[in-house]
Amino acid sequence: MKVLFATSEMYPLIKTGGLADVSGALPQALSNLGVDIKVILPNYADLKNEHIDTKLSIGLVEILGQNVEIFKTRLINSKLEIYLVDHPTFSARKGNPYMGPDKNPWHDNPDRFGLFCRAVVALSAGGFNEDWRPDIIHNNDWQTGLIPALLSESELPKKIFTIHNLAYQGVFDRPTFERLGLPWTLWREDALEYWGNMSFMKSGIVFSDTVTTVSPTYAEEIKTKEYGYGLDGVLKNKGKNLKGILNGIGEDWNPATDQQIDEHYTPNNMGGKYNTKRIIQKHLGLPENPNTPLIIHIGRLVEQKGIDLLIQAIEALKDRDIQFVILGTGENRFEQTLIKLASQNPNKIAVHIGYDEQLAHRLEAAGDAFIMPSRFEPCGLNQLYSLKYGTIPIVHRVGGLADSVIHSDDETIANGTATGVLIDFLDVPAIIWAIDYFIKLYENTEVLSKIQINGMNRQHEWSISANEYKKIYLSLAQEH
Ligand code: ADP
Repeated sequence: MKVLFATSEMYPLIKTGGLADVSGALPQALSNLGVDIKVILPNYADLKNEHIDTKLSIGLVEILGQNVEIFKTRLINSKLEIYLVDHPTFSARKGNPYMGPDKNPWHDNPDRFGLFCRAVVALSAGGFNEDWRPDIIHNNDWQTGLIPALLSESELPKKIFTIHNLAYQGVFDRPTFERLGLPWTLWREDALEYWGNMSFMKSGIVFSDTVTTVSPTYAEEIKTKEYGYGLDGVLKNKGKNLKGILNGIGEDWNPATDQQIDEHYTPNNMGGKYNTKRIIQKHLGLPENPNTPLIIHIGRLVEQKGIDLLIQAIEALKDRDIQFVILGTGENRFEQTLIKLASQNPNKIAVHIGYDEQLAHRLEAAGDAFIMPSRFEPCGLNQLYSLKYGTIPIVHRVGGLADSVIHSDDETIANGTATGVLIDFLDVPAIIWAIDYFIKLYENTEVLSKIQINGMNRQHEWSISANEYKKIYLSLAQEH
């Protein structure tokens, strides 16, 4: 059984969010379970080449009048092979894979990712002088959504499609559909057509044998009008072929061994965590007070993550003895408000606008709590990292947050399952309530340490999730 894993980002080569973490960890975990799997992604200008071996060309193919080359390489210190699809719209554009310096999506994204999809299909059909041909193609998010449609005439390879975030669908107008050279048979309501436009995401869902998403609760939520973005009906139609599998966490997120944090610690010896808190307070210019609760937030500064509500809650709490640290990039209006808030309250609020992988690790190690008031959250990774780092997650009860955090009440504290604080109905007063609730837990050191340790001992290894994906691959292979 050979599996090709198609993705638009992969840690540590290129990352904008959780998809990169999954692509960096899941194929490796599957390979460790004995699956013959290779990854394919675009050859971006900003790909971190120091993490891969020499790139060797496996051929050049003309697709829709464009020359597309594929390079083959492997991750350093790993056997995992990687194909890189090369075209100037990827390799000659620096920065974010999806948007230009003005933060708007590249105007030709459908052409870029349409070309990527066609290159994947050509490779899997034996193009580019490659003997290795997949029995299964595992596609991820809208950027790979055309692959199953382009392969819909043939039973093999089997197609699996994973939705990492249904909110980003790759919807484009009809002239774009025509420009992409797609057959008119695909312009149907039961194919790519989506309210008079075309949808890459719908294509991925409709033409795949199995659809997965990144948590069981999100798999249920997206079948409703509220979370389904107009695709709830299509998703409901998949029946038992729609499944939720919670993401795991990579090996580099472990406070006992993490190379990027200031001091290591374990559930039995938390000294390093308290020292790290002091180091980070100093680093960020906050008063070095061990007793002041330090609440952190890391993420994209967009409405999905509830950052607008969090900003209002922080403003309401700014006279309390609490420190907030926010690391993120996103919409300008949120970045500007946060910078202003921090400059007005330098002893309470620290803000770092930017993408900083190491600071993310250091904050997870330093924080007392991690707040994640997402309006919806397919899986969420930072609450999983927070559990592992003894940083109590305060989250909205949706999607993967509901599946991974257990609210701390008398019963769950007594039976040893409590791991965090859950908000049932999200608004600003609810966030303030949740922070207050956390502060009460924080003041009882015995209870706090129990909750921390419960979280640190939870099992979120990728091997557990990878086993679930392997079962799907095996059943698809068997079907054939
Ligand atoms: P999403 O994929 O919706 O952005 P996830 O929680 O699934 O959200 O994954 C986000 C990933 O990106 C996490 O690994 C998080 O630590 C990381 N991340 C987000 N913003 C930043 C940032 N500004 N600096 C460093 N890491 C970040």
